[in-house]
Amino acid sequence: MQLDDLYRQVIMDHYSHPRNKGSLSDGALTVELKNPTCGDEITLQLLVDEGMVRDIRFEGTGCSISMASASMMSEAVKGLPVADALQISQEFRKLMKGEETDPDLLGDLESLGGVSKFPARIKCATLAWNALERTADQAVAQPKG
Ligand code: ZN
Repeated sequence: MQLDDLYRQVIMDHYSHPRNKGSLSDGALTVELKNPTCGDEITLQLLVDEGMVRDIRFEGTGCSISMASASMMSEAVKGLPVADALQISQEFRKLMKGEETDPDLLGDLESLGGVSKFPARIKCATLAWNALERTADQAVAQPKG
């Protein structure tokens, strides 16, 4: 099997069976973002407690790249400290620029590396990560209680 085929399978699996799809109860941080170029939409919810991503859910519609990326992102950052989640986000952006990345940090996300060759699709792949970073900003701004 070619590596490209394997990557395509991972992407299609996340697209067909998205992980962490749905919504969280009140009190979760929520960010809605759109990628008008492609028509992708995502609503991301994060439950942050003591600096940890305790739970994460997303809803959305869009192309396979945007939805697979959201699913993989949710799986990658769930249960991690927010700071670590943001580190993965930075690594993913490097992947989108075609730069060298750390496979240990990215895991399945490496399968989206091919997107870097299609500049028009990069916004699809980074939509969920933009939402993650905005939600994390809210978590930092949130009063401690
Ligand atoms: Zn798209």
